[in-house]
Amino acid sequence: MAKVVSRMTPDLITQSYVVEAVKGMVVTTRQLMRNLFGRKDIVTVQYPEDRRPYPARARGKHRLMRRDDNQVRCVACMLCATACPSNCITIVAAESADHDIEKVPSTFEIDLLKCIYCGFCEEACPCDAIRMDSGVHALPTVTRKAQKTAKIDLLSLGSPSIASQGGQYRAHDHEGTQHGRSGH
Ligand code: SF4
Ligand code: SF4
Repeated sequence: MAKVVSRMTPDLITQSYVVEAVKGMVVTTRQLMRNLFGRKDIVTVQYPEDRRPYPARARGKHRLMRRDDNQVRCVACMLCATACPSNCITIVAAESADHDIEKVPSTFEIDLLKCIYCGFCEEACPCDAIRMDSGVHALPTVTRKAQKTAKIDLLSLGSPSIASQGGQYRAHDHEGTQHGRSGH
């Protein structure tokens, strides 16, 4: 059953707005004084001079991991591109020179303007080939094209991973592989 809410009738003092305006000015003045003289209370970070470290679980710009021989771990299976809800991963597969590996990506591109940083790609990857633990985020650019991050850039943030291909997680594989995390 619908609840009837009675309309409040403001009294004359409230309707004059004088008292309410004074109350508002008190709040504004108190905040001004706190900002001027109580700087430790200020919650605004003076970015970019001051940077707060990101939380350990923050998702940053993607990076492509490397094998022991420094080659990209990605085997162009397309699972990340299939899982991506933004359809922003473009992979072109090529034959691998290594006979133990079927495919490698000749192109691996992520459109960071479309990316919503959901993390589905790294969840879907069975090879620990793509991670979002770089601790950096995409910087602004003047063109849309510049936000398309190609394999070469993604690899530059990468580091060796010795996780078993197929997704088996071993905690010590992940020790010391995180990039320096700081707000950027
Ligand atoms: S984080 Fe999400 S939106 Fe971005 S590339 Fe990965 S799956 Fe796509
Ligand atoms: S899921 Fe992993 S191995 Fe497969 S294409 Fe994506 S990054 Fe490469």
